[in-house]
Amino acid sequence: MDCPKCAVEFQQHDDDQVSLQRCGTCGGIWIDVADLNRVLLRHNLSGLEKLGGKPNIEEIAGQCPQCQVDLVVVEGGPKHALRYDTCESCGGIWLEQGLENEESTDAMIEGIVSFYKRFSSQAA
Ligand SMILES: [Zn+2]
Ligand SMILES: [Zn+2]
Repeated sequence: MDCPKCAVEFQQHDDDQVSLQRCGTCGGIWIDVADLNRVLLRHNLSGLEKLGGKPNIEEIAGQCPQCQVDLVVVEGGPKHALRYDTCESCGGIWLEQGLENEESTDAMIEGIVSFYKRFSSQAA
């Protein structure tokens, strides 16, 4: 699969429970919703559908690297300043905020967890 933003091929990163794809150019992460939910639950967060967020259909996102359909932007967090993109067809998740510098799979997973902690916080 290729990055929806840069069109370069993803690198795969796995740990014992989850597998994610990462773009070496922009640092964005593509993760299956089942893997994402495993990550969230493992860190005592609710599953993705309980973390809130609002789809913003006005916002332009890239295309799903698997299905070639347009991704949907979901906004959340304080002042709706955070976003992730999702594919309604395969459920894949695209994350590109604040994850650029994580080098190891563990650090990427920590980055994802910290993103969704902020995403689900309703503080202004
Ligand atoms: Zn990229
Ligand atoms: Zn898809």
